[in-house]
Amino acid sequence: MTTTLRVAAIVTKANFRVSRQMKLQSAAFSLVELLVVIAVVAILAALLLPALSRSREKAKEARCASNLKQIYAGFLLYQSDNDGRFSAGFRWNNQIWENAYFVGGKDGWDTNVPPAKLRPLFPYLGASDAFGCPADVGVDFTNKDGIVLAPSVFAARGLSYGYNVGIFVYSKVGVPESLNERYSGLAGKKMDSIKSPATYLLMYEAPALSNDDDQPIEVVYWHRARKPGTAKGPPWADPDKDRGPRVSPILFVDGHVIFLDFTGGRGRFSPHNELTTAQ
Ligand SMILES: [Zn+2]
Repeated sequence: MTTTLRVAAIVTKANFRVSRQMKLQSAAFSLVELLVVIAVVAILAALLLPALSRSREKAKEARCASNLKQIYAGFLLYQSDNDGRFSAGFRWNNQIWENAYFVGGKDGWDTNVPPAKLRPLFPYLGASDAFGCPADVGVDFTNKDGIVLAPSVFAARGLSYGYNVGIFVYSKVGVPESLNERYSGLAGKKMDSIKSPATYLLMYEAPALSNDDDQPIEVVYWHRARKPGTAKGPPWADPDKDRGPRVSPILFVDGHVIFLDFTGGRGRFSPHNELTTAQ
């Protein structure tokens, strides 16, 4: 063996001894150091969690808005086959369904509502998930039919959104009559008969409906709320019992979607009218 090789072997042995010593030292983590690390992680988590839940809610709102835009495409297809008119209702179980909540969607577990294939937008969108709001957590009270819509209205009835079908009177042949531009909603109307499509509602969620000015109504919350709320009482929902902001996406007749906060906006807005007083 040459001298050079012998020296190299000694150096390698020395290196090995040093690195073993270092490993032993770093394994001896003190309890104080561990507690400091845990505290720092806890502080970071506390700082980041609210931001995380805000961004999760933003993602839900983005998906919800994109749902409504897909549904809008369905409305346009429907109109191209129906003389340019919005859907007005359909017959099922010996009655006319005004399709306020049954304009499209899937079959849910509640069999007391019209099956998906009869709903007006079904031929254009099918049993689409676009009808389910990602923030839909159902309602937490028994409704007039004695059921709780859980775990979501979408699961129960295959549709999270309301359609501004309006209040109207059917003629004998099942066609709505007395179609008043401002007060009767969209049933049977032609798209081009709407004078201000940028402020006229097409689809919305429950918080918007809660400000309807002609009937007491249960209030539910989805977006930006911890859980669905229950509030009843004529003529308005009781704000003292409200458990969250009333935020609803609104799809307008011109196809644009915005989220509006209706909290504290009692009486300012009815979904059957043009949106002229809400911000
Ligand atoms: Zn939504």
